[in-house]
Amino acid sequence: MVGPQSQITPGGGPLLSYTRSMIEGSASWPLLGDYAIWSGHLKQDVSPYLLHELVGQRVLPVPISSTRAILHPVTRSTWFEVRHLFGYWMRADVDTVWLDAPGTDGHYYTLCIGGSEARPGEVSYGWVCPHCGTLFGAVTIDVTVKGFQAFLDAAEAGISRFNTDAGSRTCPQCQHVHPLTYGFDPQNDTDVTRRARQAV
Ligand SMILES: [Zn+2]
Ligand SMILES: [Zn+2]
Repeated sequence: MVGPQSQITPGGGPLLSYTRSMIEGSASWPLLGDYAIWSGHLKQDVSPYLLHELVGQRVLPVPISSTRAILHPVTRSTWFEVRHLFGYWMRADVDTVWLDAPGTDGHYYTLCIGGSEARPGEVSYGWVCPHCGTLFGAVTIDVTVKGFQAFLDAAEAGISRFNTDAGSRTCPQCQHVHPLTYGFDPQNDTDVTRRARQAV
């Protein structure tokens, strides 16, 4: 639940009027102070979200459990993905916290980016070759003026280009062609991104 203040300026002061329900979820990324926060819920019968980090060319899963709630910090500058939630990899210049709380009716999730004044300032998206682990096609977006939404919009545009051009989906290292991909918000899906979302 959002407190009485709808606009909370970044950079200081206690945020006592704000608590956020993990139950309600949000398709968008409301900004709170120095944070961009997403939350969502998945029922037990669908594939859970899977957090992966890229270490060199190795894709490392953060273990999940159907009974145990976890908090995992992704340190700044680490490339990560949340498979089934968005189809690209991302990296920020500030830490990200991932919460996965299983319950009897599925999983509740929160992804929270920020916590430093004027961060995130730069956020990147890119793709990791499923064949050899090479990161490619990375684009960095300055979000200092327009905020985190500028990143989400740029990534959506990047996905369109990626999906319509086999050349940009081709791994520069091994020539493997990356599958079609999808963005954060299923409401923005085209037939192509919907199929890609369901295929993973
Ligand atoms: Zn490759
Ligand atoms: Zn290959």
